Amino acid sequence: MITTGQIIRCKAAVAWEAGKPLVMEEVEVAPPQKHEVRIKILFTSLCHTDVYFWEAKGQTPLFPRIFGHEAGGIVESVGEGVTDLQPGDHVLPIFTGECGDCPHCHSEESNMCDLLRINTERGGMIHDGESRFSINGKPIHHFLGTSTFSEYTVVHSGQVAKINPEAPLDKVCIVSCGLSTGLGATLTVAKPKKGQSVAVFGLGAVGLGAAEGAKMAGASRIIGVDLNPKRFEEAKKFGVTEFVNPREHDKPVQQVIADMTNGGVDRSVECTGSVQAMIQAFECVHDGWGVAVLVGVPSKDDAFKTHPMNFLNERTLKGTFFGNYKPKTDIPGVVEMYMNKELELEKFITHTVPFSEINKAFDYMLKGESIRCIITMGA
Ligand SMILES: [Zn+2]
Ligand SMILES: [Zn+2]
Repeated sequence: MITTGQIIRCKAAVAWEAGKPLVMEEVEVAPPQKHEVRIKILFTSLCHTDVYFWEAKGQTPLFPRIFGHEAGGIVESVGEGVTDLQPGDHVLPIFTGECGDCPHCHSEESNMCDLLRINTERGGMIHDGESRFSINGKPIHHFLGTSTFSEYTVVHSGQVAKINPEAPLDKVCIVSCGLSTGLGATLTVAKPKKGQSVAVFGLGAVGLGAAEGAKMAGASRIIGVDLNPKRFEEAKKFGVTEFVNPREHDKPVQQVIADMTNGGVDRSVECTGSVQAMIQAFECVHDGWGVAVLVGVPSKDDAFKTHPMNFLNERTLKGTFFGNYKPKTDIPGVVEMYMNKELELEKFITHTVPFSEINKAFDYMLKGESIRCIITMGA
């Protein structure tokens, strides 16, 4: 390609300050260095994690920055040492990686790569600590190593999942993060058996992904727990059969669920990040065999408190990161589930905006109106 080895000038939505609307800028994107690939992003979507770091209320702010980590695109060029990807490949950049060479990557049980595990504080590339984005020579920070709110971005090759080129990128781009986090929490970690009951705490994109996983596994009852009753109607499309709004009960939620299910659900998945919900999710599973899985990210000073007898009574508590999926090894398979019509993605996509109107996607999410808003690049 004629752009190989050259700087590319393109549009990017730059966050100059915390909480301020993104500004469409012309940026320079440097060629990929060792073990990096440069990707032409075609579709990206907004995830709550982008909004959280853009608001920068709970962490050290790092600006100016290009956010974005759920996306689909095509490899434009590859840097030195990249052997598994080539220009033209259809790919999903992923916020966490798989180097293939560390104890975690060698373990079948882990996806927490030592080299490329999510790092929210890093603003440059691992290779040299530098940014590949600049405006008039001033560097713009990366986000999660993906920075997909740009027409071109540079990503470590270990954070790039090569997918079926037939897969529509405007749909499968959402497989990059939230959906897979919830889906994997159920399918690969909670592993409900056919006919079992599953409680899902939090009915945002991740929780709905978890519900979808429970439906795919053949769960007989899927109990959705959320403080927002507006979410209930929508959640039915994702297999949720019953709803519990903690505000409508005097009893603790774990007791409400135990009463509904003759002693507790078989599996539960917690997707809110509230430590109270985590405790409820654990205590609402059935003794003898119940398994609870924590997905939501808690606050810094939270502590999980439960009576040890809840464990001795043969309940299991697990935690998961990105649904235990290894980005390069497993994510192409999630795309295949969609291609084989086992997994429906369309119902997660509630809005679409052109790239020039990316700030609308933030509005939809802040108002709680969207599950996923697809942002179409080049529009
Ligand atoms: Zn690794
Ligand atoms: Zn995300």
